[in-house]
Amino acid sequence: MKVGIGNDIHRLKEGRKLILGGVTIPSDKGEEAFSDGDVLIHAIIDGILGACAAGDIGSLFPDTDEKNRNRSSIELLKETLTLTKARIINIDTIIELERPKLRPYIDEIREKLASVIGIEKERISVKAKTAEGLGPVGEGLAIKAYAVLLIDN
Ligand code: MG
Repeated sequence: MKVGIGNDIHRLKEGRKLILGGVTIPSDKGEEAFSDGDVLIHAIIDGILGACAAGDIGSLFPDTDEKNRNRSSIELLKETLTLTKARIINIDTIIELERPKLRPYIDEIREKLASVIGIEKERISVKAKTAEGLGPVGEGLAIKAYAVLLIDN
């Protein structure tokens, strides 16, 4: 068994889609990014690569490569799983976002991730919290995500 950790941060920008775990969340702001900016999946990918000691998301999917522009992070996750052959036991995640409240969307995000990864939803935890108004997340300027996961390779 191997453990991995990943995190990510993106600026929030008006007019961009807010995509988390492949689910589009109704919001006036979304992640500014070269890809679709799915901060949760980016953290998970970095966790998988970390567990496999296989580098990081920036080396695997560089933003200097035009083929990664606006690319779906679901596709990046699928490619990461294929490349590493990682068999994921469980994932625990935290999303830090001031608004909107994510609670109504948590189950849909877990289901989407479970279907892409091919494990039960019960093995995927997604927790959301605010930054209590503090720092760039608290001021609504950014969104952060953290992931810890276990693989059996
Ligand atoms: Mg990212």
